[in-house]
Amino acid sequence: MKYNKLGKTGFEVSEIGLGGEYLEGKDFPLVNDVVSAALDGGINILDCFMSNPDVRSNLGKALKGRRDRILIQGHMRSIWKDGQYARTLDIKEVEFFFQDLLKRFQTDYIDIGMIHMIDNAEDYDAIFSGQILDYAVRLKEKGVIRSLGISSHNPIQALRAAKSGVIDTILFSINPAYDLLSEDAERPKKLDNTFFRDKDALSINSVRNDFYRYCASHEIGLTVMKTFAAGALLDERTSPFSEAMTPQQCMSYALSRPAASSVMIGMQSVKEVEDCLSYESMGDDEKDYSFIFSSLPRFSMNGRCVYCNHCLPCPAHIDIAQVGKYLDMALLDGTPSPTIRAHYDSLEHKADECLSCHACEKRCPFGVKIVERMSLAKRIFS
Ligand code: SF4
Ligand code: SF4
Repeated sequence: MKYNKLGKTGFEVSEIGLGGEYLEGKDFPLVNDVVSAALDGGINILDCFMSNPDVRSNLGKALKGRRDRILIQGHMRSIWKDGQYARTLDIKEVEFFFQDLLKRFQTDYIDIGMIHMIDNAEDYDAIFSGQILDYAVRLKEKGVIRSLGISSHNPIQALRAAKSGVIDTILFSINPAYDLLSEDAERPKKLDNTFFRDKDALSINSVRNDFYRYCASHEIGLTVMKTFAAGALLDERTSPFSEAMTPQQCMSYALSRPAASSVMIGMQSVKEVEDCLSYESMGDDEKDYSFIFSSLPRFSMNGRCVYCNHCLPCPAHIDIAQVGKYLDMALLDGTPSPTIRAHYDSLEHKADECLSCHACEKRCPFGVKIVERMSLAKRIFS
């Protein structure tokens, strides 16, 4: 299992995380088996946004005696009302259901305390200028939560949170379909293979890209939800790319966005845990997602890199996508931040080793001028 730093939280998180969503409604023995398989496979982060008391209790029971092996990403403001999940802005309800989370997980701390689902300006303003943020900050000061995050599907609100100075980590929806949507688009309720048919020129949305890069430059950790767009990307009838992706290609796409540290995958059986873990032993070819963009007639990145590494192999063994990613982050700020410089310095092979052979450019489906970018990276990072 590969582990990544989660921003500046101090946590090293497994790049595959366990999303608890599909364990709702399952009996304890199955929950226990899934948790055991995940832990045995090296997974060390669990997302629990669910407010259902039974799934909370089952997860807490499954973790008894091994709480220290997992980082819990637990949500505030998801509540259980009239037998159903709901969200609240009422501080009393927030407090009650966060205490309920601690009690049912049989723990006195949550590693990543997440303020749940801030998807519009009204919720953002109510939370950030009111009692909910104050409550979360107090929990962090007391060590009840060890880091503070939010979850969101909206890049505008997520970027506001990133820039607020109080947020350590963000759970954000990342997949190649959502990344093509405009920053203010509603999250699509339903995707199908005609979704992008009538859209004009398509490219990865610049606000989303800037959000990922801002988080990377400022050490705000990203964990990922909706990696498969609720399964739509895995079936050619529902994939807006008209081609099915494999789960591993979706995971690779999400994990190759700047700052993305871990994908939270909903797993409901030991077999599904094993399927997810197979990602760790797959080669780059099997994880290559570049074909989906090539399948869109109006897709254009105008020579911009999507970090897919379809251009490898490189005779100088340069990880072209990583160099490109750090270059773009440095260009966003005008100069490399100490964090980006440290990431770049940790690369085994750097831009100054480029042989200008142009072999990669012939393989890049997006017309990226790689040799030029290598020389720019060499200049910027020297
Ligand atoms: S240069 Fe092209 S092929 Fe290589 S990582 Fe970037 S987009 Fe992918
Ligand atoms: S041009 Fe540079 S980066 Fe591209 S394959 Fe050749 S050596 Fe590698």
